[in-house]
Amino acid sequence: MAHRYWCGECGHRTPWLGAADAERRHLAHYAARHPGTAPGGHVQTRRTLGGCACLGLTVLLLLLLAVAAARLR
Ligand SMILES: [Zn+2]
Repeated sequence: MAHRYWCGECGHRTPWLGAADAERRHLAHYAARHPGTAPGGHVQTRRTLGGCACLGLTVLLLLLLAVAAARLR
């Protein structure tokens, strides 16, 4: 599922992203543009083209993490 957050204070919206990324962008927008305001607005979801792309991305990320961890040793 892709998520898009809409700002409750202005017309800003995040790009279609994963839930965690979209929420982070939404909160960053509030922190930058509406400091002191509790994050509001609403979230829109849509199905991505199969979960395979997401799974592939997760595997790729894990591989990158493994490589990064190996280099730190
Ligand atoms: Zn806003």
